Amino acid sequence: MPNFNVDQEVTSALLKLLPKNYYRILSASQIRQLRLGYIDQEFNFLQRSQWFKLRELKNFQLKKLKQVVWYAYNNIPLYKRKFKKARITPSDIKSLEDVSKIPILSKDEVKKNFQDIIPPKGTIYRVASTSGSTGKPLRCLLSIDAVKWRDAILQRTYMWAGCDPAKDKIMGIAFPPSFTGAFINTKSLVFRGLKYLISNRLHWTPKVLDTKELLKIFYAMTKFQPKLIRTFPYIILYLSEIQDHFDVTFPKSLRCITLTGEGYPKKIIQKLVDAEVFNHYGAAAEVGTIASECKQNGLHIHMENHIVEVVKNNEILSNGEKGEVVITDFTNFDMPLIRYNIEDISSIENDGCSCGRKLTMLEEVHGRKSDLLVSKDGKIITDIAAILQAIDTAEGGFNKAVNQFRVIQEKIDKITLVIVPTSLFSEKTKKVIVSRVKNLLGNDVEIKVKLVDKISHGRKFRHVVSNVNKKLFES
Ligand SMILES: [Zn+2]
Repeated sequence: MPNFNVDQEVTSALLKLLPKNYYRILSASQIRQLRLGYIDQEFNFLQRSQWFKLRELKNFQLKKLKQVVWYAYNNIPLYKRKFKKARITPSDIKSLEDVSKIPILSKDEVKKNFQDIIPPKGTIYRVASTSGSTGKPLRCLLSIDAVKWRDAILQRTYMWAGCDPAKDKIMGIAFPPSFTGAFINTKSLVFRGLKYLISNRLHWTPKVLDTKELLKIFYAMTKFQPKLIRTFPYIILYLSEIQDHFDVTFPKSLRCITLTGEGYPKKIIQKLVDAEVFNHYGAAAEVGTIASECKQNGLHIHMENHIVEVVKNNEILSNGEKGEVVITDFTNFDMPLIRYNIEDISSIENDGCSCGRKLTMLEEVHGRKSDLLVSKDGKIITDIAAILQAIDTAEGGFNKAVNQFRVIQEKIDKITLVIVPTSLFSEKTKKVIVSRVKNLLGNDVEIKVKLVDKISHGRKFRHVVSNVNKKLFES
């Protein structure tokens, strides 16, 4: 299995060591080859299909839907069972509307039947974990095909924001490279970092944020001069706070920012930076980028790789009505997700987009709001879910021992971890989790673990709830 991860210290050292014009080492065509070579076919197709008529798009979807349904029925035990129970076979899927005959798949179902949703002989090119934004950690197995399509869609997202994915400088902040469309399979950390840089990509993946770390990001931005930055809204918020207090600025090269994740409306972010801001929506591990914004602010669904439905109580809603987002992915045969309830809330737009694309649009998506944790010495923990999920114990680690979780920061030195355990959860798991959180937030922090059967929530689930003010500087 290839390793895409980069080491921030290595990247930082390389940025310091490389000559000013290092990015001219490769020719334009070599850079293109390195960045898009392996997804040529998918990317070129997406370039054409974005201008397809709706009928053409739907015909393509039906062909892909039939393929994945036949495959799942013949190879995946869970689907075989579900189809039998619903008294249907793949030959009942004759039109796109027939998708509604297939029962909806829940996240819990996937977790509980993990061994039964993967084929006996998968190719398993990559393993990805959900960011845990629903508080239900889930491991996803990805085929090479899925990785390629998702990457090609991401490159199209950059293109819609006005960036040329074959050459322009792209910086991902707090996104691991696998999510930023990288396909650099080199064992050595140094060569991997170098390959990214000379092909005009930079990945900065801080686990915690403090003033020092944020200043380092400014150093990297200044040296790298990105045209596009892909990140989360809160990162831009913190960077602009740093800009107000230190002698640093966003680079002049910056033209566009693509954002994912909720919390701060685009309007707020747009006021902070002199660059165009674009939203995109996705579920990185499960299905990749689902919809991206075009220049006219339409959040277009990438229909070539999935079907998006909006449902309530198992009924498909009309356009404009808000309900739960249900996705059918076409390309990941290592873990096919057919009518998978992603547990976000949105609705399908009624109107067309003035950009001319017929790709259906989603309205604003709700459902992934979460707070950040903050330590006594001012560190901001950006991704507690990823840190917890990395915990490995003899019993199989966090993912296997925990069904769902929520971290509540009651006070700066008081944390409650609410956990819905599985049968694998033990005293030892608890100890490891507590010590990991203490490592992050300080030894004198009081940590309570509360085991429960169910975590109740309103329409939006928050896996981190904080009552602590997260501003870096008191004003
Ligand atoms: Zn549009």
